[in-house]
Amino acid sequence: MEVRCGDVRMVFDLGSGLRELGESILAEKSPVEVHLFLSHYHYDHVQGIPFFTPLFIPLNRFTFRGPRAGVQNVKAVMEGQMVQPYFPIPASFFRAQLRFEDAIPGVEMKLGEATVRAVNLNHPGGCIGYRVEYRGRSVVYFTDVELHPTIDPQAIAFAEGADLFICDAMYTRDEYEGRGGAPKVGWGHSTWEAAVDAAEAAGVKTFVVFHHDPTRTDDALDSFLGAVRARRPEAVAATEGMYLEP
Ligand SMILES: [Zn+2]
Ligand SMILES: [Zn+2]
Repeated sequence: MEVRCGDVRMVFDLGSGLRELGESILAEKSPVEVHLFLSHYHYDHVQGIPFFTPLFIPLNRFTFRGPRAGVQNVKAVMEGQMVQPYFPIPASFFRAQLRFEDAIPGVEMKLGEATVRAVNLNHPGGCIGYRVEYRGRSVVYFTDVELHPTIDPQAIAFAEGADLFICDAMYTRDEYEGRGGAPKVGWGHSTWEAAVDAAEAAGVKTFVVFHHDPTRTDDALDSFLGAVRARRPEAVAATEGMYLEP
C-alpha cells in the first residue's frame, strides 16, 4: 500500500504486490527515494522484499521502518529472510542506499511535511498500525488486527476522524464464529462487522476493506462488499492498482 504526500513517498508492508510496484518504479525516472514501513513480519507482509528490484539499483534510497521483534530490529529481520535456503541472494547484494529505523508507537516520525505515527494492534506476535497526516488529510492503516472480543479504545482514538480508514476486515461474523468452517477466533483478523463498528466509533470518512481472505473469489468479494455497504455506503474493497484520494 503506497501513500504519496507531495514528493514524499511511502509504502506500507512489503508483500507479494511489491514485485509489481518495483516494475513500475523501474519505469520511472531514477533514482527514487521511498520510505518503507512494516507493520510486522509475517510472510504476507515481507515476502516481496527479495523480489523488489529497485533495492538492487545504486543511488535509489530506501528507509525501512518497523517494530522490534523481540531482540531483532527491522534490519535483522529483513536480512534474516534473505539467507539460504529461503533465498539464494543475501541482502548484502542490495546496491541502493539503505537506512533502518525503529517504528515506535507514540514516537512521531516526520517526513517532510508529512507526519507518521504508530500504534500497537491486537495480533498474534504483535503488529502496529500507522497514521499518516499531510496538509489536513489523514490515512489510517490497520492491517492485521483482531478487533475482538472488544475494540481497543486506544485504536479507536488513534483512528479518530481519519479521511481514509484502511482496516482488516477479513471475515464475516459467521466465518469468525465457525458457522460453516473452523472458527477464526484468535487468528488475528477482524470481521467486517467489527471493522465497521471501529469506523463508526472513530468517525472516519471512508472505510477501505483490507486484508481479504485469500480464498474469497472476486464475485464473493463483491457480495461481501455489498453487505458492508448496507452499513457504510462509501466503503470500498482494496484492489491492486486502486487509487484513492483522501
Ligand atoms: Zn499477520
Ligand atoms: Zn497479514
